[in-house]
This record gives sequence, structure tokens and C-alpha cells, in this order.
Amino acid sequence: MSAIPYDLGELDPDAPRPRGGPVRALGALERLWSSRWLGHYSRLAFRDARVGALIVAPDLTLVHVNASACSLLGRDARELHGRSILEFADPSDPSWQRALSGLHTLARDQAGPGQAIRRLVRADGTVAEVAVTPTHFRRAAGRGPLLLHLHDVTAWRRTERRQAAIAALSRRALQCRDAIALIGDAVRVTCESLDLAGCITTRSLTDGEVRVVAACGGLRDAKAAPGQPTQSAYTLLVGEPVISADLGADTRFSVPPVVLEQGFHQGISVPVPEGAGARHVIVGYLGKDDRPFTGEDTQFLQAVAEIVGAALDRAAAEEELRLRALEDRLTGLANRTLLGNRLEAELRHAEQIGHRVHVIALELDRLNRLVDSLGQEAGDAMLRVTAARLMRFARKEDLLARAGDNEFAIVATRTIGDGSALELARQVAAAAAEPYELGGHTLVMTASVGVAVNEPRELAGAQLLRNAEAAMHHAREQGGARHERFDVTMRDHLRRRLELEHDLRHAVARDELELHYQPLIALADQTIVGFEALIRWNRPGHGLLSPGHFIQIAEESGLIVPIGAWVLTAVCAQLARWPEDVYVSANVSAAQVGSELVDQVAELLQAHAITPHRLVLEITESLVLEPQARPMLDRLRQLGVRVALDDFGTGYSSLGSLHRFPIDFLKLDKALVTSVIDTNGTAIVRAAIELGHALGLQVIGEGIETEQELDALKRLGCPLGQGFRFSKPLPLPGADGLLAQVPA
Ligand code: C2E
Ligand code: MG
Ligand code: MG
Repeated sequence: MSAIPYDLGELDPDAPRPRGGPVRALGALERLWSSRWLGHYSRLAFRDARVGALIVAPDLTLVHVNASACSLLGRDARELHGRSILEFADPSDPSWQRALSGLHTLARDQAGPGQAIRRLVRADGTVAEVAVTPTHFRRAAGRGPLLLHLHDVTAWRRTERRQAAIAALSRRALQCRDAIALIGDAVRVTCESLDLAGCITTRSLTDGEVRVVAACGGLRDAKAAPGQPTQSAYTLLVGEPVISADLGADTRFSVPPVVLEQGFHQGISVPVPEGAGARHVIVGYLGKDDRPFTGEDTQFLQAVAEIVGAALDRAAAEEELRLRALEDRLTGLANRTLLGNRLEAELRHAEQIGHRVHVIALELDRLNRLVDSLGQEAGDAMLRVTAARLMRFARKEDLLARAGDNEFAIVATRTIGDGSALELARQVAAAAAEPYELGGHTLVMTASVGVAVNEPRELAGAQLLRNAEAAMHHAREQGGARHERFDVTMRDHLRRRLELEHDLRHAVARDELELHYQPLIALADQTIVGFEALIRWNRPGHGLLSPGHFIQIAEESGLIVPIGAWVLTAVCAQLARWPEDVYVSANVSAAQVGSELVDQVAELLQAHAITPHRLVLEITESLVLEPQARPMLDRLRQLGVRVALDDFGTGYSSLGSLHRFPIDFLKLDKALVTSVIDTNGTAIVRAAIELGHALGLQVIGEGIETEQELDALKRLGCPLGQGFRFSKPLPLPGADGLLAQVPA
């Protein structure tokens, strides 16, 4: 031991104390310090200090140690005296290598006492972190002995480190999009920060099974005996942290064998707080002889659990968003995007194993009309009911999706043959056609269904779906309430149709529509009483199209509304130019029915100062049968506008119900007129004409082509007629020309 030039005396608690009263004044304190009793007071201060104090020789050999330093290091004074302080340094702390000069420099350079954090090893092998404050005994000392004060900052430093770890983990959580990766990080951080022997995060599945999501300490396969609740399950049950000091003897839950095999005997667990209820648990383990778990450990784990919980909630929200993007909100079925993805995957799978994939596309016939008359809510309700019905038919492995506003699709996979696919199509069409109970009404709907199969095998999903849709459109064009199997001609047909719809969309704006006028003739004297306005479309590249080519598409696409408005506007403008005794009738589609139609008519009549009865609106029987059309017809007639029932004799015509219709004209369909030359036909036409007379209706024979037909109608008392026998529908100059011939 090196000689020390300063005698601090023995650390003897029983050494004589200085006499005299308590020191009250600064002057007295100074006198005391300079007194010969200083040595004694220094010794007492050194001995009883709450902080560890060491006096070390210039080579860092321990000369004196106080009681606090002994307890800090877990050793008694005898053990320490004469040994270098470096012997108790933690070898993992590199700063000790520079300790000697470091302490001297620190002691000299600092105005006040400087400080450095050092790691010392206790007798039990644990590490104490201490803040070392070195002081020289003489002011200008270079390498003299030092008085070292040691503050135990182990607990504070641990807290600081844990806080830093939590802060770093939450930063990572904010950046991390992968919750599972974050749980892996959390387990690692927990293991390191708490010095654990092992750590896992588990997830409880809906069937009660508990799965390890992330692990460290060889616990990847930690699994309890079947049917036994684990610490994780128990923690979720009680909903709060659980500490077990002896896992082997714990009766609250069973412990996976691998945990005990690893020598883990203490367990701590916290539930992860998740928005939708905790499902995850973080469990930490320590060995038998390790320190016991403390409240601080629990707090740390809870902080980690909160970060993980927030990350899981965020991940769940993102998943929900993703699902929403793939789910139809109205029906809860897959939407078209998901349908496309799944169909593509299914086709790839089917190609590998040689299976066939059928797609069945279904739409409700004339849903537009229902929505127009009963509102969107009724339409939505109907689609929901249809979805529920279709669910009955989709097998577990099939995909049922809402493929469009009014379109469902079933992807039937695996071992379904053509025959059973068609049978399925028939069944779903039948299911959709069952009566719907909506808001106290019983509504009858039908559906158009198309079926397509992946032929050729390498067909893309989108194309397969389009084929099924082409077949569905074909079914619709055949009148609906049927199913059709796709063949290639349908696709071309559909493409042409789509092109036509596209072009038709611009027809009004591009001024491509025109009206032709077919004269309505008083049969008795063959004078013109009016005209029927019949629409034509001058479609670029296709010539003049008659309504048969586009009216149905206009109705189905809703384009009939602007087109119909254009017709009425043109008709009224024309009425204003023609003589007062000439009337014009315009055709109105069911899709145009609504209060706007009546308002528009009223405005036009007023704008052109037209006597209302000169305008006749031709409607069909199916429209007149719809209950919601009735108020509109009544309003029109209140305006003074007249209504004609067109195409009588087709569809569900019934003479018995004619009296209920608020109409002015009855137009006998061309088919009836043609049949007038045979006896049966004559009987029907006669009955219709007589009934018309009785009801005060004016009857018009349509499509009169021959003299024979004309004569027969005249004989039966039909007052009015129209047909090629008199004139074809003519462009405006032709119609004007006919009018000009009328004798004054
Ligand atoms: P519609 O209202 O029954 O019109 C009579 C149809 O019979 C017209 O066909 C007319 O050209 C045709 N026709 C008239 N006389 C004869 C004849 O002697 N022989 C033959 N074979 N045919 C005759 P068009 O112009 O092709 O119109 C067809 C249907 O398109 C119309 O049947 C009507 O339902 C609809 N339509 C026409 N214009 C409009 C319109 O502006 N709006 C709406 N919604 N539908 C319209
Ligand atoms: Mg007509
Ligand atoms: Mg007609």
C-alpha cells in the first residue's frame, strides 16, 4: 500500500468528540474547520456519510472505505482495503481502463466536483452503477490521493434505460406497419430491459387455442397440455397483471413443459389492451435464483403492452379499411374488386389441378323502374334480400359477390359440371323471383342470369366475368326471367351494345336525334287529324336508326329520361307551328314516369301556348298497370293533356280492365289489326272498338297496310287509323307537305 501523506486517523466511532455548544455562526464554522478537531469531524463525516466514500491512493488502491461504500459493493471493509478499485470494475465497462487519469482530470478540471458513472461488480456478481465524484485533498494536487464519493444510481439508471427503451419502441411502433414484427421487437426489448430469461407474446384464437406470436429464450413452441388454461389464458380471464413466484407450484394455471425444462420458475404476464378486447398477452420468465419480479417490472410490461395494443388497434383499423375496400357495404358480400382478385386466384389454382370454374352473373330485371317509383331504399332492401337468398346457394368454397349496382356473381369452383352450373343458375333465378315483402307490399321481381365457364382454360378472370355478364345481358334482352349460357356471339353482341350505349349518351348533345311524323287518319274521310312523333337516331357511321335499335337500351341505361325530355320539347315546338286542329302524340316510356314529367309538360304547354288536348302521350299497358303511374296520369289529364294506350292487344291486354284506365285513346296494335281479316280477330277487334265507344275512347287501328284491313276496320266502326296504307313516318318536311295537301 502506498504511503498517504495525510493522516485521517482511524475510523473510530468512539473517538473523543469536540466539546462546546452547537456552531451557530459562519465565523465559528471557519474556526472549527481550522481547529485541531477537524481530523475528528472529517472522520465522523466520512464514516457516517449516507453515500459511499472511498479514499484511494494515486494508483487507485483502496485505503479507506466507509460503511455505505461497503454495503453498495456488498463487501466488508477488510475485503476491500489494500485492493485496487479496478478489481471491482465491471469488465464490460470500458471506461474503467481510462479511469485513473480520468478521475484525476475530472477532479482537477471541474470547478465543482465532477462526476462519472461507473459500473462496479458486487460480491453477489450483480452490477451496481455508481456516480463517482472524485475530490483532491489539496487544491493544486496532480496525482495525489483522492476522496471518491459513490452514489448508487443503479435503480435510477435502470429506470432511465427502461424509459428510453419504451420511447424507442413507441417510435418504432409509429413507423411500423407490420404488427407481428413489432410484437417481435417488443419481446426482444422486454427481455433485454428486464433481464429476463425468456419472454413470449401469445394470442388467443376464437376457438380458445393460445398461440405464441413471438418468443425469445427458446420458447417458440411453448404450448400447455390440451384443455389446460395457460398463464396467458388466465391473464386474459382476470384482465390484469399476474405474477407467479413459483410456476411449478402455481395452481391457477398450467405451465407449458418447455418453460419448466428451460429452468424458468417465475412468470409475469400482462394483458395487451386492445380496442376490441384483449387477445394478446406478454409473458416474461425468470429462473428460480433470479431476482423476484417487482412492481417496476409490471409497469414496464404494461407500458410495452400499451404500445403493442395501440399498434394492433392500428393494424386492425387498416385491415378493416382494406376489407371495406373489398366489401360491399350494402350486402356485406365481396365487392367487384375482391371478386376479381379471387376469380384470378381461383383460375390459377384450377389451371394447375385441371378443374373448371363457372361464373354465374345475375341481375334483377327492371330494378331501375322499382327504384324510380319506390325510391332507392326499396331498391337497396330488395338487393339485400336477394343477397340473402343467393347465399343459400353458394357453397362454402364458392364466392358470392355484388358485382355491380344491380348485379351479383357466384364463382362456382371445384367439381361442378356444366349441367349442375346451369341447374344452379336456374335455381338462383327462381330464388330471385320469389315474391318480396317490402314495406307492406308484395313485389314480384324476376332475374336475368348468365353462366360462363373458363373455356379456354387460360381465360383471364375479368374476361370470364364479362362472358357471364354477356350471357346475363342476353337473358335480359330476351325479356328477362331466364338464364342463358354464354357463347361467343354474345360477347360481340354485348360489345356492340356497349358501344351503342356509349354513343347514345352523346346523341342529344350532338343533335343526332330527329322526329319522324306518321299521320293519324280519320278513316271515314281519310283526313289527317294528327301525327304520331316517332324518334330516329342519326348515328354517325350507322345511318338513321329506328327506335327498335336503341329505345330499350335507352330505357335500361336511364338515358330515356333526357331523350324523352328532348322528344317532348321538340313535339311541343312543332305543335306550336301546326294548325290548331292537328294534334301530336308522343311515346312515353315507363322509366320517364315521375313528377318531373308532368312539370315539364306543364311548362312546355305554357311556354308554347299550346291547347293541352293537342298533346297526346302514348303509354303502354305495363306502365298503366303500375300503381305509382296512376297519380301522374291523373295530373296529366287535369292539365288537359290526353293519354293513349299504345299497343293494345299485346301482353296482358284485358278488355275487362280497360274501364279502370284513365285514357282517351285506345291504339289497337298492328297484330290485332292484321288479324282483323280472320273471324277470331274480327271478334276481338269488334269487342275492343265497341268497348272503346262505350267508354268514350277514340280507337285507333295501328299498322294498317292493306285495303282489306282498312275496310274491315271501317266496317267495325273504328274511327281512326295509322299505317303504311296512308303514309310511313315522315321527316318533318314530308309531314308538312301532307298537311299542305289537306283541303282548306
Ligand atoms: P309504336 O308507338 O307502336 O309506333 C308504331 C310503330 O309502328 C312505328 O315504328 C311505326 O313506324 C310502325 N308502323 C306504323 N305503321 C306501320 C305499318 O303499316 N306497318 C308496319 N310494319 N309498321 C308500322 P317505329 O317508328 O320503329 O317505332 C317503334 C316503337 O318505338 C314505337 O312503337 C314506340 O313504342 C317506340 N318509340 C318511337 N318513338 C319513341 C319515343 O320518342 N319515345 C319512346 N319512349 N318510344 C318511342
Ligand atoms: Mg306509339
Ligand atoms: Mg304501337
